[in-house]
Amino acid sequence: MMKQIVLTAKETFEMREVPVPEITSDQALVRVKAVGICGSDIHAYYGEHPFMSFPIVLGHEMAGEIVELGDNVSDKKVGDRVVMRPQKVCGRCRPCRQGRYNICESLEVVGCQCMGGSSEYFAVDAELLYRLPENVDFIQGTVIEPLSVAVHAVKRGLNDPEGKNVLVLGAGTIGNLVAQSAKALGASKIMVTDFYDDKLEIARECGIDCAVNTGREDLADAIEKYFGSEGIDAVYECTANPKALNQVLGCVGKGIPIVIVGVFAGLPGINIANVQDREYSLIGTLMYVHEDYVEAIRLADDGKIDIHTLISRVFPIKDCKEAYEYIEANKQKAQKVILTV
Ligand SMILES: [Zn+2]
Ligand SMILES: [Zn+2]
Repeated sequence: MMKQIVLTAKETFEMREVPVPEITSDQALVRVKAVGICGSDIHAYYGEHPFMSFPIVLGHEMAGEIVELGDNVSDKKVGDRVVMRPQKVCGRCRPCRQGRYNICESLEVVGCQCMGGSSEYFAVDAELLYRLPENVDFIQGTVIEPLSVAVHAVKRGLNDPEGKNVLVLGAGTIGNLVAQSAKALGASKIMVTDFYDDKLEIARECGIDCAVNTGREDLADAIEKYFGSEGIDAVYECTANPKALNQVLGCVGKGIPIVIVGVFAGLPGINIANVQDREYSLIGTLMYVHEDYVEAIRLADDGKIDIHTLISRVFPIKDCKEAYEYIEANKQKAQKVILTV
């Protein structure tokens, strides 16, 4: 038997004793070591996630150690330290056939639409597991998932970020990682904005030189001051705030890509007339593919991403309710919060 944490209702976790799962011949059994809390988990916790229902075992940002392998698995071994790419895809729909399985027509995210890794052991298709480099521990390893989101987003906007100038709206976990990824992939000037000084300070600590509080400073002035006549090559919207996006649509140079990374609620009022007239390319981005995971792990291995500074707190998983309460009470500064198993 093993312990499992189940979100049974709004703001209610239950610790259950369940059998250790059996694996199929294509699966691995992972002894879970750490699970990250994501923005989508927080929505689920408050019963506000449109595509999740109770009861659910959360945990798509999972790191652990392989303890058992199915007969068909030859590229992994028992004892491997791994992270999971939590995507179940059909392999047959049009996006899947084009290699864009991150937008599979019947995509299931492990830990969102099906059972996640918040338990002592987790059975998962071995092809979804990636070996962690030695110098990335399990706690940092959980951040490979959101880092892959960031790497994918950066590449949606810029084929080759080398030497490009980038504006990132929002200094939360994803905005921070988008800014860091852009820098790690060779971008030249990077500006990140937010209303919270604590998050801007964390961005600076992570090596993003220009972090602007747009609650106090005028965005257009800040852009003019930092980028001057060089201008901006791509914008990454990570706030999910229509006001922030509209501000940018009015003042950044014409003709550039604007990547929508934030998850907007409802029907935001966006100034589409400016998109047309200034010939912006509005680009969506969702999750990642295999290559983004490989890239994210490489960047973490090379020490090009400061994961350590981004981790605000670590809680044992039995105190997960406390962890969610900590996040709620520290909105202005809490970034990544990790649960250890
Ligand atoms: Zn996540
Ligand atoms: Zn598909």
